[in-house]
Amino acid sequence: MFPVTRCIRVAVFAALFLFPPPEATAARTELAILATTFPVWIFTRNVVRDCPNTRVELLVPAGSGCPHDYTLTPRDRQKLASADVIVLNGLGLDDFLRDALPAAGDKTVEAGAELADASGRAGSTGHDGGERGQHTHEGGNPHQFSSPARAAVMTRTICEALAGRDPDNAETYRRAAEDYILRLAALARQLEKIKNRTRGRGVVVQHDSLSALCEDAGLEQIAVVEEDGQTPSTADLVGLIGLIRSRRSAVLACDPQYPDKIMAMLSKECGMPCINLNPAAAGPADAPLDWYESVMQANIKTLERHFGRP
Ligand SMILES: [Zn+2]
Repeated sequence: MFPVTRCIRVAVFAALFLFPPPEATAARTELAILATTFPVWIFTRNVVRDCPNTRVELLVPAGSGCPHDYTLTPRDRQKLASADVIVLNGLGLDDFLRDALPAAGDKTVEAGAELADASGRAGSTGHDGGERGQHTHEGGNPHQFSSPARAAVMTRTICEALAGRDPDNAETYRRAAEDYILRLAALARQLEKIKNRTRGRGVVVQHDSLSALCEDAGLEQIAVVEEDGQTPSTADLVGLIGLIRSRRSAVLACDPQYPDKIMAMLSKECGMPCINLNPAAAGPADAPLDWYESVMQANIKTLERHFGRP
């Protein structure tokens, strides 16, 4: 026969595990964060790195890069509907999912919200705005993430939005974000020093994903070859070759997201060197937290190799 005290102990044990108190349930609840694109996924993971009750998922597959042609799957729509917080790049890069966003916008964060001016979003030349070389995306260039200084601004915006949504962890988010921002600022200083070597030099970028990075390094953008990731027409190429030949001492900058055949042709045709720079728009699905920093260090080395060490 079971002694009464033992029965009580068993009952209490069962009750604790089968029916945990409400606060224990709350403590185990995860904050489900969905980042739309690769760069904001990396930044967000760095902000929440010390908060085990957060989960950050990436919507557009890591290796896909710029989502200019991305089409949402039914599973993507489910993810958007079920996430607690959706971190967008903003500045127009996430326009492909606007119709799938919840009507109430309080669970979305636009990481690039503070960068509208830098992106040229207001008063941009846009698609109808003159020469190819002066083109930006309609409403501005959304690829501000390729500048470490602007990545820091995006990280702080993400951090403050998460801190507001999850005040219990606000200080943990802020500590991690400040640590990451310091590392981004160090990269920005390295790029700033390169400006002494690039003064007066122009750059023709394959895609405007590289514009912010090249601007940080002091290069003046002359033209964009593959606007919105689209292959230029023959007439476009003829115009580009004329434009590039008119500018001496420039370089071509290739984005590894896209095939380099056209860039190789332009390099040969214009007698202009081509350097590979990575805008950090894509990466491996298991990218470590310092992936962006590693990519930018490689870019800095490439620029130093080409223009000389500061
Ligand atoms: Zn792009």
